[in-house]
Amino acid sequence: MRIGLIAHDRKKNDLVAFIGEHLDVFSRHQLYATGHTGQLIAKRWGLQVHCFMSGPEGGDQQMGSKIAQGEMDWLFFLRDPLFAHPHEPDVSALLRLCDVRGIPVATNLATSSALVASLRSKE
Ligand code: PGA
Repeated sequence: MRIGLIAHDRKKNDLVAFIGEHLDVFSRHQLYATGHTGQLIAKRWGLQVHCFMSGPEGGDQQMGSKIAQGEMDWLFFLRDPLFAHPHEPDVSALLRLCDVRGIPVATNLATSSALVASLRSKE
């Protein structure tokens, strides 16, 4: 599976910890991430992560491009709902493309846990 990973700044620690709790799953799939998120995950857990540009500089759109081309299977996107982001239009476009393509997407830890459970059940 090709898995996309994005976390807004105040959610990055949550995503890094979440991946650590499920290293057995994430280590078996191809990981793609926006720049800073991917660097943190790779550094903390030694995973191979294909890093796009930083989210606000186009990384969200690069992720969207992969989704539009049918080259991404799942997306974990821990959003910060309490903070305004300059690249909000990119975020909306990315989530819209997930709906267009029918890509399972988790936007908080609860749905992330549900997605991982689903991933485990498919292995
Ligand atoms: P980042 O981007 O991983 O480069 O920080 C995340 C985002 O879209 O805000």
